[in-house]
Amino acid sequence: MQNVNQEDLVKMMEHVRVYANNGKVADYIPALKKQRPEMHAVAFQHINGECVSTGQVDYNFTIQSVSKVLSLAIALMEHGVEAVFSRVGLEPTSDPFYSISTLEVGKPSKPLNPMINAGALAITNMLCGGNSEDRVRTILSLIHRITGDDTIYYDEEVAKSEFETAFLNRSLCYFMKQNGVITGSVEELLDTYTKQCAISMNVEQLAKIGALFANDGKSLDTGEEIIPSFYSRICKTFMVTCGMYNASGEFATKVGIPAKSGVSGVILGVVKNLGGVAVFGPSLDEKGNSVIGLKLLEKMSAHYEWSIF
Ligand code: GLU
Repeated sequence: MQNVNQEDLVKMMEHVRVYANNGKVADYIPALKKQRPEMHAVAFQHINGECVSTGQVDYNFTIQSVSKVLSLAIALMEHGVEAVFSRVGLEPTSDPFYSISTLEVGKPSKPLNPMINAGALAITNMLCGGNSEDRVRTILSLIHRITGDDTIYYDEEVAKSEFETAFLNRSLCYFMKQNGVITGSVEELLDTYTKQCAISMNVEQLAKIGALFANDGKSLDTGEEIIPSFYSRICKTFMVTCGMYNASGEFATKVGIPAKSGVSGVILGVVKNLGGVAVFGPSLDEKGNSVIGLKLLEKMSAHYEWSIF
């Protein structure tokens, strides 16, 4: 497969960044409202170590739902497949990521998959640790190992802003607690979840996480297995079926790579055996996906023939 070329990347970004006007910055988390819609950045980290990038590559954004892929990987490593999928399902949904409706009608009442909020909250609830601090540290440590950068941390302002306004996520938690899907303190769970979503980094750092998945969970530098390949494969499968919210089917037809979107305007993509791509552009379409990110990945996938299908 052909490496991503710096000049192509700059050209493609120039074409798509004008589309920022077609969307809207997320505002249900008050601190995210401050993001400027015209911001844009992309990085492609090749497995061979080469990284190409353009735009505001030093800008740190919060990874939001992209963190769900990492918490799923940790839950799988800590508890195994059977225990994890006794708590959450494996099926995609056409409902939005914050929906409560299937929890109410589904029998048994468990979240449909680990990428929607209910499922991600149930996964975070499973993580080992005595308290929220332990669990957030576990997620950060995995990120530090993958990126080789132990300065990566969460954005306290964004975490606090979401914690104070996460009424819908609290409702999901109380509903799941009533049905025995989660245990323990809802406030502690929300504290962990909002901090994991507020973990902050730039596109080059995030692209390294994508590259790890492209390399079947093995470190790019040492070849050491950081996430067992079977678990890495499960994570990528959920990225294909559920990673782009209720637009995952459309994304699969247009782009055709495992990807995970976050409401800060980030998309993480994985190109098997080639590398990881991270795009940031906070202007979102009606389903919550970055407008610039979608356009750029569509162009890149067509140009480099990335689709796995
Ligand atoms: N922290 C966000 C929430 O729970 C994450 C949503 C997302 O990025 O999809 O609402």
